[in-house]
Amino acid sequence: MKRALMLFTCDLRVRDHPALAAAVRNADEVIPAFVLDRQLLSQSCGSPNRLAFLLDSLNDLQRSLSKRGASLTVRRGEVVKEALALAQQWNAQTIYMSADFTPYAQLREQRLADACKQARIELRTYAAINVISPGQLTPTGGDHYRVFTPYWRVWQRAALRPLAHAPRVITTPPSLRSTPPPKLASLTNKACSPQLQPGGETAARKQLQHRLRACASGYEELHDDLAGDGTSRLSAYLHFGCLSAATLLQRSSAHPAAQSFARQLCWRDFHHQVLAARPDIPHADYRPRGDRWVVDTHALEAWRHGQTGYPIVDAGMRQLASEGFMHNRARLIVASFLTKTLYLDWRHGAAHFARLLIDADVANNVGNWQWVAGTGNDTRPNRVLNPLRQAQRFDPQGEYVRRYVPELATLPQASVHQPWLLAQRQRRNLGYPAPLVAHLAAASELRARRYSSTSPA
Ligand code: FAD
Repeated sequence: MKRALMLFTCDLRVRDHPALAAAVRNADEVIPAFVLDRQLLSQSCGSPNRLAFLLDSLNDLQRSLSKRGASLTVRRGEVVKEALALAQQWNAQTIYMSADFTPYAQLREQRLADACKQARIELRTYAAINVISPGQLTPTGGDHYRVFTPYWRVWQRAALRPLAHAPRVITTPPSLRSTPPPKLASLTNKACSPQLQPGGETAARKQLQHRLRACASGYEELHDDLAGDGTSRLSAYLHFGCLSAATLLQRSSAHPAAQSFARQLCWRDFHHQVLAARPDIPHADYRPRGDRWVVDTHALEAWRHGQTGYPIVDAGMRQLASEGFMHNRARLIVASFLTKTLYLDWRHGAAHFARLLIDADVANNVGNWQWVAGTGNDTRPNRVLNPLRQAQRFDPQGEYVRRYVPELATLPQASVHQPWLLAQRQRRNLGYPAPLVAHLAAASELRARRYSSTSPA
């Protein structure tokens, strides 16, 4: 009798799941399991948004497994210890899991591999998280691509793995009883953002169907339109593995926006391969430029709370607070404002995003923050986004601002992005702050500071 433990991590689905498909193919009985990692739980407790999404996803996975005759065992604790204990309890000869390339996951996999070796259990890992896994494409003489365009060129031509079919039936040991995921209240006493996306593979597939159709009328033109909200909103599903990136690529291939979607997924893989090669970048600058960041708690708090007095920046920050999501264009604007206008350290911004974004993903979060801050890959360190021009270009009617900044909801188009133009008495009645800094003056001061402090390297 061959028994396998299927250890789920950030691959919470049954479709296109190469490790699950292999476990079902190779073993007579499979024990599907998930361990709520004590260490990640203690970090995620600051992030109830992600915990809520995770629990939704586990409940959905449990339903999908039970339709196939199986059930999910959920444990809480240290992943290596719990996985090994489960494998030994059920006499499983093999543990199956998806390969993951974050520094934390790599360490966990190494420790699990060592423990399995000692216990004479085989560990098998399968590529499942990226379209192209880190390390699969490398430039001549290097371990990762530093610049996006050459990576994009080879990525488009790379051989793709075939999608794995969802198992129709999963046989488990007859005495296996499901242990359901805990309730959110038992994990955190903090409140979630009020308008959170639901988690899970079922919700992901609905979103995929609905959004691909909606995006068909012009993702290329509309993906920067803040009010139109025309992007796929699949990032959290991709992050928790409720949907595979390979499935999204395949499903969008016949779509008018196929090339644009592929390019975004390529950015995702690009940042993942950078992190795999440079595990220090969550803390260290990829390309240090000798920045001497300003320390200003008042400005940082105003930014975090969407109270900078720049409506487009505040709208983005308030979208994040209420939905655990922010439109990509708004992410660019608020990140540029923090690092280029206020000249505050990108690490503060990345930490705030990591607390609130459901899709917070160490590679993409840090990679994009460093890109905007000018310390990352393939970046233009001197580019400063002017919040007013960005607002006029990407929210010309002021709809995005009105949606998220209720104080400005009744203002006419001419002043919604520049409430400082209103008469003083009108301004006072709004209850909306005056601009924290004069953007242009701050940006030119930044330029002066950066150049006086930049080392020639
Ligand atoms: P779509 O436009 O529909 O794109 C489809 C998918 O492609 C996304 O779901 C995402 O997985 C991927 N993608 C799109 N743009 C990027 C990009 N620039 N970099 C990497 N992948 C991309 N994305 C995250 O997934 N997690 C993060 O923690 C994250 N932090 C960010 C921080 C900053 C400062 C910035 C500027 C961007 C960040 N992004 C992050 C990238 C991007 O903003 C989101 O992926 C995107 O807004 C998600 O919305 P969507 O699913 O509708 O994207």
